[in-house]
Amino acid sequence: MEQTHVDAVIVGAGFAGLYATHRLRNVQGLSVQCFEAASGPGGVWYWNRYPGARCDFESIHYSYTFDEDLQREWRWSERYAAQPEILAYLEHVADRFDLRRSYRFNTRITSVAWDDDNAHWVVGADDGTVITARFFINAAGAFSVSKRNDFPGQDDFRGTVLHTSRWPAEGVDLAGKRVAVIGTGSTGIQVIQTIAGQVAELTVFQRTANFACPLGNRPLTDEEFGQAVAEYPRLREESRTCLAGAPYPRAVRPALMDAPEERSKVYDQYYNGGGFRMLASTYFDLIFNPVANETAAEYIRERIRERVQDPEVAELLCPTDHPYGTKRATFESNYYETFNLPHVRLVDARTTPIARITENGIATMAGQYEFDVIVLATGFDVGGAGLTQMGVAGRGGRKLTDHWGHGQRAYLGMATHGFPNLFHINGPQSAAALFNNPVAIEDSVDFVGNIITYLDTHGHTTTEATGAAEDRYNELVREVADVTLFPKATTWYMGDNIPGKPRTPLSLFTGAPMYRTICAEVEATGYAGFSVDGDDRPLPNTIKLDGSAVFFLAGMMNMGAKPLEECSLEETRAAMESFKLMQLPVPPDVSITDTTYPIQGGERTARLYRPPVDGPLPVVVFIHGGGWIGGSLDSFDEPCATLAKRAGVLVVSPDYRLAPEHPFPAAVDDTLAVLRWAAEHIAEHGGDPARIAVGGESAGANLAAVAALRARDEGGPRLLAQILVTPPTDPLADNESRRTFARGPIITAELGARMTALYLGDPVHVTSPLVAPARAQDLSGLPPALVITMEVDPLRDEAEDYARALSQAGVPTVCRRFDGLFHTAFSLSAAIPRATEIQEAIRAFLAPLLSAEAATATATVG
Ligand code: FAD
Ligand code: NAP
Repeated sequence: MEQTHVDAVIVGAGFAGLYATHRLRNVQGLSVQCFEAASGPGGVWYWNRYPGARCDFESIHYSYTFDEDLQREWRWSERYAAQPEILAYLEHVADRFDLRRSYRFNTRITSVAWDDDNAHWVVGADDGTVITARFFINAAGAFSVSKRNDFPGQDDFRGTVLHTSRWPAEGVDLAGKRVAVIGTGSTGIQVIQTIAGQVAELTVFQRTANFACPLGNRPLTDEEFGQAVAEYPRLREESRTCLAGAPYPRAVRPALMDAPEERSKVYDQYYNGGGFRMLASTYFDLIFNPVANETAAEYIRERIRERVQDPEVAELLCPTDHPYGTKRATFESNYYETFNLPHVRLVDARTTPIARITENGIATMAGQYEFDVIVLATGFDVGGAGLTQMGVAGRGGRKLTDHWGHGQRAYLGMATHGFPNLFHINGPQSAAALFNNPVAIEDSVDFVGNIITYLDTHGHTTTEATGAAEDRYNELVREVADVTLFPKATTWYMGDNIPGKPRTPLSLFTGAPMYRTICAEVEATGYAGFSVDGDDRPLPNTIKLDGSAVFFLAGMMNMGAKPLEECSLEETRAAMESFKLMQLPVPPDVSITDTTYPIQGGERTARLYRPPVDGPLPVVVFIHGGGWIGGSLDSFDEPCATLAKRAGVLVVSPDYRLAPEHPFPAAVDDTLAVLRWAAEHIAEHGGDPARIAVGGESAGANLAAVAALRARDEGGPRLLAQILVTPPTDPLADNESRRTFARGPIITAELGARMTALYLGDPVHVTSPLVAPARAQDLSGLPPALVITMEVDPLRDEAEDYARALSQAGVPTVCRRFDGLFHTAFSLSAAIPRATEIQEAIRAFLAPLLSAEAATATATVG
């Protein structure tokens, strides 16, 4: 080794380390020193040489994208390459980009300590080397520490014990041997199906049955390869916009929307097609809706029962203790048929756990088995174990193991508070569990490369995650996990496979596009959530959102939904209607009927929602949202029915005229018209005309506020309350929330301006109080108001300003802000469980105002 100080030390020569070396050294011109414990490059593909090892994303996707020529020249032989071919590919990459010269192989990093005074890392290796570096790049891999010593007596065994991740390079002759395989995860399945034909006896110890679906491997034809090469730029670009980081068809429907026969056809198509499509391309709700999930789970169990002849064995192979997809998806090629072979037996290691390894084999609670070879396919201490084994100590000598005492965490999966200039590639809490790894790795390395460039070009020395960003990101990762079914399984995704490891989600379960969006936002905002030379940058907006909101937005991205501001009018309306799929079922005991109300020159529909409550009911005329240009009675069925049920009120929802076909003041006139109709006719429908409130959401809340003004000024009707959920109150408002959330989520400045322009028709109306109630001269005498705002909403501040103005004018006003939620959360009750909190806030506000006694009192005073 020539240098004793470099810009960056890189540990690992897998996909991550090799690309990091190329990017930092060849592209950015930094000095690097790289270390690898193995004798050559390859990472997991160097170590995991067990029979049957291969990738389960197609090789044309499970490979680098950064160099177009590399993509064209490397001819994959199979759809899913086997380990030797992937290893050869990575060796080729190392040579092609001249990476080996930066590596010290056969060298293990054993100490990593931050030197505060000199602002660099001091890195020690097992050969005595000590080197200092400004940056430490952890490319040590999430699967580099294997779980090898689970069973007492392992050393007593007279035969051979092999862990799959340390399979001898020269291979092992298993012919004629009695072989045990412990473990039926991705690795165990690949080993079992591959060696079954070679061995004399095969005994599989299964603790948890897995949902294995066909891999669909076969030779890659010239035509397929040629097509992939021709389409590479598109395929790679698309990969980055798809859930799993590979360009698979997008799941755009919920499972229960299809009839059972239709669903079976969809499952047939993707099960038989092979690979991750069964999870990624069938139905979008499989990973969060247990009923939807069970349809896929049962489908897979049926296939297992068809394929395994002995019904008892088949049942044992059928997973029943976790939802499909909540343990890492596994894939197989004739795995199930293996259990039809006479020399293959399955041992249930759950009901009869392995007690110990003996001299001759394995002792379970139920009996003894004799073997020549025991294969441990027991997995890995997944996540940051490779790094913690290096004994990392950060600022002030703080140990990483202490910092991670309650669970491994890293801001964006890349940076850790208190550990400056240390970057993880695909670290804990990155999105890597659901993101085709080479692509995820490239993104992560590029992010790190960019932040180093940023530091250098701005004359900065150090950066790390702020404590606040790491904490909030960690919470977000947990909140997202809690929206999904992942925590329902015992899985390495949650750290469960290592006794004593704190249970924590090791990945952000949103899929690739949302993760990439967050990272892009962090970059675009000058590294939000990072501390740069001690200057703490604020949190990025997206991670302020509640996990359910992030998961919803991620779902939209995974479906390939266009941002609303890029949609045509028709597309915008269709998108708004599709939000209905994100609502809870309408409460069945709320009766829903349509009637009509008159408007000038015609009539419109009003939909009535009546809860199962006797007596003349208080009435809420509720105006749906949709930016004055969209939304419908149908799209607000659930919020209106839920409001009716929860608050015990008769809800009247008018189908008012929409812009641009009917610009201002059509909607304003219609909402006043429906209020007047209610005052005159609602008794015929079981409502109490003396107890009417008006309310609305978004544009509907704007119309409700305007209707309250007009009812005051234009002769009634008398209203007892106004409920304004996220109201726009002044198109020309200029305030912090408009600036902070100008890029959304959901409503962007551009979209808001477009909707307003369509609504106004003639821009001259923009300052009219009937468009901008905040501009009304006088707000006194208006009914008591509940103003509900969302923290992450460009319209937040104008709504809160309006609430303050109402209050100052003497209007009893309650303003309630919902932290972590975005515009439209109210009408997304299935996606955003906290929508019920909004409903509850409305109920609590209305209850005293709309009680029979209050109405009498108001009438007396009035
Ligand atoms: P690794 O490939 O693990 O490389 C890390 C390297 O760091 C190792 O070589 C290790 O020796 C070295 N190292 C660790 N600690 C030290 C130290 N202290 N000093 C020196 N060197 C050290 N992902 C997918 O997306 N699709 C797949 O199909 C897929 N198949 C997989 C199959 C197997 C068998 C396994 C185990 C994992 C698979 N993965 C798959 C996940 C896989 O980890 C990634 O795809 C990818 O290979 C990770 O690359 P990496 O460079 O981050 O880590
Ligand atoms: P794994 O998924 O963690 O599976 C380990 C298996 O060993 C499980 O069946 C586990 O049972 C069992 N096991 C562990 N300890 C045991 C014990 N003490 N007694 C009995 N059984 C025990 O590990 P893996 O199969 O090596 O896969 C790890 C990850 O590597 C995969 O999830 C995947 O990400 C990647 N991988 C991918 C491929 C591919 O196809 N591309 C191949 C291999 C690996 P329980 O489930 O009950 O804990």
